Amino acid sequence: MRLRHIPGAEEAIAESPYVVQEPRQYRGRFRDLFGNENPIRIEVGMGKGRFIMEMAQTHPEMNFIGVERYSSVLLRALQKRAELDLPNIFFLCIDAKELPEIFAPGEVERIYLNFSDPWPKDRHAKRRLTSPDFMKVYDQVLAAGGKVEFKTDNQDLFSYSLESIPEAGWKIEASTRDLHHDPMAEGNVMTEYEMKFSALGNPICKLIASR
Ligand code: SAM
Repeated sequence: MRLRHIPGAEEAIAESPYVVQEPRQYRGRFRDLFGNENPIRIEVGMGKGRFIMEMAQTHPEMNFIGVERYSSVLLRALQKRAELDLPNIFFLCIDAKELPEIFAPGEVERIYLNFSDPWPKDRHAKRRLTSPDFMKVYDQVLAAGGKVEFKTDNQDLFSYSLESIPEAGWKIEASTRDLHHDPMAEGNVMTEYEMKFSALGNPICKLIASR
């Protein structure tokens, strides 16, 4: 998702109390930011943040951080966030590549990748958020026993991920190519893209990976 540049987006983000400004200062002590010891879960490429905000509402016993690299997209999430009274969610305006500079080893309990950009051309495979290079990034911040959960309606990206994730030394714990008719759907929170594509009749794929 790449929205047109929105004038003032950077300024609004720089002033927002919902965005972690200078996130590197919190490396190893994100629990201070939340004021509790609850596990921290992040969504990488959260878009307008529907999924992560509903997760935060449904799971007050957990902390959530939404990661989105484009300020114009993050701005939409902030507008929605302002209507909610939630103590357990913050946002980061960064590229996923920077995660190890921001989180200490083991600081993140779970990573959600939802409807990540498919980058269909082979020469762009490294940009896919389930590429072996990105799995190495997640390995650096994820706690022992931590998991990566990935949903998409893109069959090619899903097939690629079923190979690239084990290639990076991870296990696929569970997977389905029809989430909405599978027991894995228990507790499923729909993302913005999931609502849009399932309404068109596209089956939704999901996998859970661990090391
Ligand atoms: N997760 C949302 C959903 O399911 O509705 C949004 C999906 S949208 C197709 C993918 C989002 O990931 C875009 O907003 C894009 O800017 C963001 N994104 C892609 N690569 C990223 C990266 N390397 N770091 C941070 N965000 C990224």
